[in-house]
Amino acid sequence: MINKLKTQVVVLGAGPGGYSAAFRCKDLGLDTVLVERYPTLGGVCLNVGCIPSKALLHVARVLEEAKAISKNGVVFGEPKTDLDKVRTWKETLVKQLSVNISSMAKLRKVNIIHGYGKFIGTNHLQIEGNNDTTVVNFDQAIIAAGSRPIQLPFISHEDSRIWDSTDALALKSVPKRLLVIGGGIIGLEMATIYNALGSKIDVVEIFNQVIPPADKDVVQIFTKQISSNFNLMLETKVTTVETKADGVYVSMEGKNMAAATKIYDAVLVAIGRVPNGTRLDVGKAGVEVDDRGFINVDKQMRTNVPNIYAIGDIVGPPMLAHKGIHEGHLAAAVIAGKKHHFEPKVIPSISYTNPEVAWIGLTEKEAKKTGIRYAVATFPWAASGRAIASACQAGITKLIVDTDSNRVIGGAVVGANGGELLGEIGLAIEMGCDVEDIALTIHAHPTLYESIGLAAEVYEGTITDLP
Ligand code: FAD
Repeated sequence: MINKLKTQVVVLGAGPGGYSAAFRCKDLGLDTVLVERYPTLGGVCLNVGCIPSKALLHVARVLEEAKAISKNGVVFGEPKTDLDKVRTWKETLVKQLSVNISSMAKLRKVNIIHGYGKFIGTNHLQIEGNNDTTVVNFDQAIIAAGSRPIQLPFISHEDSRIWDSTDALALKSVPKRLLVIGGGIIGLEMATIYNALGSKIDVVEIFNQVIPPADKDVVQIFTKQISSNFNLMLETKVTTVETKADGVYVSMEGKNMAAATKIYDAVLVAIGRVPNGTRLDVGKAGVEVDDRGFINVDKQMRTNVPNIYAIGDIVGPPMLAHKGIHEGHLAAAVIAGKKHHFEPKVIPSISYTNPEVAWIGLTEKEAKKTGIRYAVATFPWAASGRAIASACQAGITKLIVDTDSNRVIGGAVVGANGGELLGEIGLAIEMGCDVEDIALTIHAHPTLYESIGLAAEVYEGTITDLP
C-alpha cells in the first residue's frame, strides 16, 4: 500500500542536524515531516557517536583519577569495572535522550515517518517502511542523512574482532591487545576508553602526528602525557590484516620501524567517515553529489536545486554535531524567508581524551598559510595554581593573535576540561576581541579558565617569568 502525503518541508535524517532543522522549521510555522530509517531519533551523535563515547570517557576519567589520587593519599583500592553495568548505564542514558527528542517532536507536532527515504523527483521523496511505502510531496527538502565509517578495502569487516567506532561503543568485551588504526579524534577517544578499561593499546597513524589538524606543539602536550598508556606508531601504515583463530595478524611498516607483524585481539578501524550522499537517489531530484559523496551547498545551505537544502556531515567537514545543528537552524530560517547565511568565524574542535585537546579559529599552520602576521602567547598549566591543586598541570592555553590588529584569531587548550574552557576563546574571536580585552577582563582565581587571561597577559608582555 502506498500512502501519500503533502508537506511544506521534509527533512531526511533525524541526526542532530536533521532534528534541529525539523524543530526549527516547525517553530517557524512550517508544516514539517521528519524521516528516519532507524526506530530511534538522534542519529550517529546520540546513538553511536558523541553521547555514548562521552559516557564511556567519563567512566575512563573516573577510573584514571581514582588510580592517580591514590598517590596523593586517597586510597579507594584498585578500581574495578562491571562491564554489563557500564554498558547498561550507557544504553539507558542514550535511550533517555532519544525519548526526549521524540517528546520534543511530539510536542511540536512534527510528523515522523520511519523508513528508508530516497528521492523520486524534485518534489517527491519515497519512504520504504517495514510494512508500507509513503510518498511525500514536498515544497522544500532538507537532506541531513549524515555519514558512515570508512572501511579499509583489504580488511574483512565481517569478523567480529574488526571494529568500527559503533562496534567499539557497543562495549561487548575488553580485548587484551587492541590496535587502533587512525590517530584522529575518534580513534584516540576509543583508545582512552579501552586503555582505562584494561586493554593494551597500539595506535597506528600514517601522518607524523596524531590529531593531524591541530598544531604540533598542542598535540605534543597530549602525546607526552599518554606515552606511558598507548604505544603511538607515527608515520606507519598497516599493509595487511589477517584474522586467524588465535588473533588478528596485522602487518605494518613505518618510518621508525622495520616491517613487522603483530597480533591483536581486536582491531579498531578509525580512519574517518564518508558521507551518505550517494545512497539517496538525489540525482532523481537533480541534486549534484561529488565523487566522495558530499553534496555541495551555498552559504544558505541550498543545493544546486533551489528547493532542496543539505546540512551536516553530508555537506562536508568538519563532521561535527554542532556544525550540523547550526546549519540545520540556518536552513530552516532560510526556508521560512529569513536572509541568513552560514558565516561563523569559528567552529570548535575537541578531542575528549585525557587530557582533552581543543582548538578553535586559526591554527598556527593555517595562519602561516594565509600569510597573516601573527604572534603566539602560551600559558603553561605548570604555572597555574588551580591546575597544580587539581593534579592536572600537564596542559597549556595558547592564543594566536593577529599582530596588525591585535585581535585573537585562534586558540587552543590542552588539559582537563579544555573543551569547556575553549568557549571564552570562541566568543572572543566571534566578537572581534582585542587581546587586551581578554587581558583586562578579571578572571576568577584560582580557575583553569584564568589561564586564558594569563595567556593574553603573556602576549601583552605583563607576564614574562614563566617556567
Ligand atoms: P547523522 O548523525 O549521521 O544522522 C543522519 C541520520 O540520517 C541518521 O539517523 C540516519 O539513520 C539517517 N538516514 C541516513 N540515510 C537515510 C535514509 N535514506 N532514510 C532515512 N534516514 C536516513 N561530533 C561532535 O560534535 N562532538 C563529538 O563529541 C562527537 N563524537 C563522535 C564520536 C563518534 C564515535 C562518532 C562516530 C562521531 C562523533 N561526532 C561528534 C560526529 C557527529 O556524530 C556527527 O558529526 C553528527 O552526528 C552528524 O550529524 P548529521 O545530522 O549530519 O548526521
